[in-house]
Formats: sequence, C-alpha cells, structure tokens
Amino acid sequence: MAVNVINEKCKGCQLCVKACPFDAIDMVGKLAVINSKCTSCKVCVSKCPFDAIEVDEKEVEEVDLSAYKGVWVYAEQRQGKLQGVALELIGEGRRLAREISAETKVYAVLVGDDVKGLAQECFEYGADGVYVIENPLLKNFTTDGYTKVLKEAIDEYKPEIVLFGATHIGRDLAPRVAARLSTGLTADCTKLDVRVSSYIDYANKNTTLDTSTLDPNSDDTGLKQTRPAFGGNLMATIICPRTRPQMSTVRPGVMSKRDRHEGATGETIVVTPNLGDADIRTKVLEVVKSSKEIVSLTDADIIVSGGRGLGDASGFELIKEFADKVGGVVGSSRAAVDNGWIDHSHQVGQTGTTVKPTIYFACGISGAIQHLAGMSSSDIIVAINKDPDAPIFEVADYGIVGDLYKVIPTIISEWDGAEALFHATEEKQDD
Ligand SMILES: Cc1cc2nc3c(=O)[nH]c(=O)nc-3n(C[C@H](O)[C@H](O)[C@H](O)COP(=O)(O)OP(=O)(O)OC[C@H]3O[C@@H](n4cnc5c(N)ncnc54)[C@H](O)[C@@H]3O)c2cc1C
Repeated sequence: MAVNVINEKCKGCQLCVKACPFDAIDMVGKLAVINSKCTSCKVCVSKCPFDAIEVDEKEVEEVDLSAYKGVWVYAEQRQGKLQGVALELIGEGRRLAREISAETKVYAVLVGDDVKGLAQECFEYGADGVYVIENPLLKNFTTDGYTKVLKEAIDEYKPEIVLFGATHIGRDLAPRVAARLSTGLTADCTKLDVRVSSYIDYANKNTTLDTSTLDPNSDDTGLKQTRPAFGGNLMATIICPRTRPQMSTVRPGVMSKRDRHEGATGETIVVTPNLGDADIRTKVLEVVKSSKEIVSLTDADIIVSGGRGLGDASGFELIKEFADKVGGVVGSSRAAVDNGWIDHSHQVGQTGTTVKPTIYFACGISGAIQHLAGMSSSDIIVAINKDPDAPIFEVADYGIVGDLYKVIPTIISEWDGAEALFHATEEKQDD
C-alpha cells in the first residue's frame, strides 16, 4: 500500500502537512511530497479538501490458511545447550496444538551443527517431533544463516504457529523470518490462546480485540497473542487472521515447563539446508563470555529487589547482604537501573526479566504496573515500603510498612538469631 499525491490536483494548501502525525509530508515548491516516514495511516487522505491524495491499495495475495498445520517451537541452543525458554515453549506449544485439534502436533526446530542429540530432551519436554537443520555454517548463530534456513523450512513444511523465546537471539531472528515470510509477529507475549474467538471481522491485518467478549466454543483456532501495550497500561490481544504462520516471541520464565517424561520419543525430520558461504555476511571469529557477574534471575528461588526507595547506589550493599543471608539473588526496579545504581541484568519487569521465585522481596519499590508485570506470579511476595498506600501492598502476601534501612537490618539480625536457635536445637537432638 502506498500513499501518493496527485500533482495536478494539489493546491499547496499544506493542510496535509499539518495533519500528518509522522512528519511524513514535505512541501517542495507548492507541491506536497510524501517522504519515507509515511506509515500509510491515511490521515492526510481525509484531510485533503481537493482529493489530491490517493492510496494505492495493491491486492494482497490471498493465503490458503488451511495449508498450514502444526505448531513449531524454535528450540534455541547455545554451544549445544538448549535454552530453558525453548523447553517452556515446547510445553506451551503442545497445549496450543492439543487445543487446536487432537491431531495437531508440536515440533521443536533445532538449528546448528551437530545438534541432533538435543532432540531427545525436546521429546521429553513434550515435542511430538523434531526438525533438525544442521550444517557446519550454522555452528554459531548468524542472523543471515539462521534466517535463511528457517524461512525455507517454514515455506516447505508450513506450520500454522511458530514460537520463539524472546532472548537476544529470538528477538533478532523472529522479526527477520516474519518479514521474509510477509506475516505478522507479536513480540513479548504474556499469554497465548486458540480457543477464544468468533470475533467480528477485524481489519485486514494484525489488530487488537477484547477477549472477554469472545466465544470460547467457537471453531476459530487462530492464535490470540496477548501482550502489554501502551507502556503496560493495558493488555492487547493481537491476531493474525490473513497470513501464516502466526508468529510470537515469549520471554523466558513466562510459561512453565511441562514435567519431564524420561524416555519419551518422537519423530525426527532431517532438513538439509541450502546454505553457502555467500549467504552469510558476517563471520564469528571468537565467542567471548561476559566477564561481569551473571545474575540468573529466572532460575532464582529467592529474589531480593531494591528500588528507588534505596536512595542511592550504596543501598544495594544492604540488599546484597540481605540476599546473601536468605540465599537469594539481587533484583531491582527500572528506576534503580536508570539511576545507574545497578546493572540492567538485575532489572525485573516488563523491560527487564520476568521472574517467578518462591519468595520475592520488594524493598523500596512502589509497585508500578511495569514492575508487577515481571514478578506478580512469584509464589510469595514480601513488600517493605514506608508508604502504606504504595500499590505494591495490593499484590504482596506480606507487607511491612517502614523504613527499609531499619526493617532489613532487623530481619537480618532476627535471621541470625533464628539460625543460631535452629543449629542449637539440631545439636541438642544429635546429642
Ligand atoms: C515502557 C515502560 C517499561 C518499564 N519497564 C519497567 C520494568 O521492566 N521494571 C520496572 O521496575 N519498571 C519499569 N518501568 C518503570 C515503572 O513505571 C516505574 O517507574 C518504576 O518501576 C519505579 O521504580 P521504583 O518502584 O523503584 O520507584 P518509585 O516508584 O519511585 O518507588 C519508590 C518507593 O520507595 C518507597 N521508599 C522510599 N524510601 C523508602 C525507605 N527508606 N524505606 C522503604 N520504602 C521507601 C517509596 O514509598 C516508593 O513507594 C517501565 C516504564 C515504562 C513506561
């Protein structure tokens, strides 16, 4: 679709320039000219009093949706190790597949060099089958190489849904593949569904709809992809009704892994990729692991997070002491990261990591919706905040109203006392 000015009709009134929300119309002499910022929103078309702007709506090629079957999960591996999010998505993909129909299958897609040995783990976490795409040129991830082989495999086997983990690699790869396939992609989904539809015929592309009005008994099994929108202030459910596959990314930790079924088996489909040196414009010379301390928030059982209420960076020393005492790892709010008090790798929330530990301590954190988006599914939430009306108390299981610089040292010393009592009791029992 392209927006064009009909030069013979344009009177140079500039109404379109003022109306354009994207600054996408320039005046060249007395003529309006559409520039590259145009998003085809068509606001200018209705504003032009001289009918001098037209939209060239090329017929979109109709896609035979029924030709696409099955759910694929990109089984991301690094140095021969499957990423946890891949296993989480295999479980989720299996649930979606079974909801579509009893015959629908979930497949993991392994891409790399000598990675077929990982297929067994995929079966054990719920994959009915595994596509294995191997080539020495795929040993290290490259955007060019992985995009090409995945795109070609999708063209050949036609899955209806493809899920990626929203990791650095998934976020790089999924949009490229979607663009090459001319289909939609919804990033950072927090919920996926198939059996909630019979929506009115929404526009001709990805759009939002209110799932609360939908009929759970409908036959429509299109993917309903829910994600936070408008800075996390509302949840939008996005559909992809005219193209296939339907593609989503999901962050690590949002979905749960299925229980592992040791010894499970499935079908292996070996795909021989058509790939040569010339297809890859970059070369990985060396893989260097980051030397900074790695925090594994997603795997942590206990997380102690600090926010702006710490006052300054030194407050994280107390948070670290508290975390060490209770056997947890340090998290933070975005405000603390933005203030430069702690590295982004510690950030919990919508633009940080999604976590679900057994216990989450929120210290000096107000409970903004974007923070809650990343931690509200923790088993137990303990909030320490001096404001009794702080929103964090609405989600907290235990709330302590007070100054964290008094409350945390008290907990630490009580903890020491409790530990000493515990050990004394144990020693007495041993005697
Ligand atoms: C698109 C977008 C994405 C975002 N993503 C994230 C995200 O991923 N993660 C995230 O955290 N935020 C995110 N934010 C920012 C979010 O909106 C909030 O601004 C942020 O979470 C606030 O951090 P905070 O709670 O530490 O600070 P504040 O909201 O300033 O809260 C500080 C709290 O500390 C309390 N306090 C002060 N002193 C003490 C004390 N001595 N003892 C005890 N309590 C005290 C105060 O009562 C207050 O409740 C995002 C925002 C946008 C727009």
